[in-house]
Amino acid sequence: MRPGPIIDLHTHSRVSDGTQSPTELVQAAAAAGLDVLALTDHDTSGGWDEAVSAAASAGIELVRGMEISCRHRGRDVHLLAYLPDPAYEPLVNALQKILDGRNSRVPGILARLHELGIALTPDDVRRVSGDAAAVGRPHVADALVAAGVVRDREQAFDELLRPGRPAYVDRYAAPLEPMIRTVMEAGGVSVVAHAWGRANDPGPLDAAGFAELAAVGLSGIEVDHEDHEPGAREQLRAIARDLDLVVTGSSDHHGTGKTGHALGCNTTSPEEYARLLERAATAAAVSGRATPEVVTR
Ligand code: AMP
Ligand code: FE
Ligand code: FE
Ligand code: ZN
Repeated sequence: MRPGPIIDLHTHSRVSDGTQSPTELVQAAAAAGLDVLALTDHDTSGGWDEAVSAAASAGIELVRGMEISCRHRGRDVHLLAYLPDPAYEPLVNALQKILDGRNSRVPGILARLHELGIALTPDDVRRVSGDAAAVGRPHVADALVAAGVVRDREQAFDELLRPGRPAYVDRYAAPLEPMIRTVMEAGGVSVVAHAWGRANDPGPLDAAGFAELAAVGLSGIEVDHEDHEPGAREQLRAIARDLDLVVTGSSDHHGTGKTGHALGCNTTSPEEYARLLERAATAAAVSGRATPEVVTR
């Protein structure tokens, strides 16, 4: 029996905090045997054009997406947006505000590190964040690795950069419900990424919370993700089924920036992928915007 198509709907390139160029990512995905890949850099469509060109020659189907940094009732929520018109002005402005917030807190992080006796300069960070639309904590982590302060990103986050650690500085994130509406108005569909996070804690995203988001226009839940325990996956799958939300699965690949997230380690079923594309087609038609097409092979 021939296995069905392998579909991975959440990956990052160097245009955010992955370690591969969009071309390298697309080629790696094709080499890994993936049939469908979504590029979902944080808060930017900056890698789309290069990925489209690479997909055409690599012979892989490409979905243009992004992962938007949102906040909901005090909790960070990452919203995957697929196939929105990247020129829709409210979306452009909202993304710029997030990127600005990410960039502008870097001096604060460097000041905290300085107080800890770690002398990292803006240039040290710039050197490792070359292609990125904005400088995030993963880039600060890479600079710390390059300076020999820590072994890898994981140690940098665990000891210094995550909430509760001495060099953590908060930044702006977009309110979730308005962003779900903005993505829809841009003709795209949205899916909550790794909904319950590493702690497998629902927080405000329990069944009732998802019902509210579905009413606002949410299309799906990323259920199969490395951060979710088997039990959490089953509960999220049940919530999605009850609310008629699309169930996705993906690697959240960051190149060598995140271990345990190899391309295709979690995947989306062809049936759920088809449902997601159907909803995207509807959103595109209703919006009247010039939305990107899936690049087929
Ligand atoms: P920022 O948006 O600048 O606050 O950075 C957040 C990004 O850092 C997330 O999107 C993750 O990709 C990455 N990240 C968060 N926690 C970790 C961790 N423990 N190890 C490696 N990367 C992480
Ligand atoms: Fe990331
Ligand atoms: Fe995320
Ligand atoms: Zn991600």
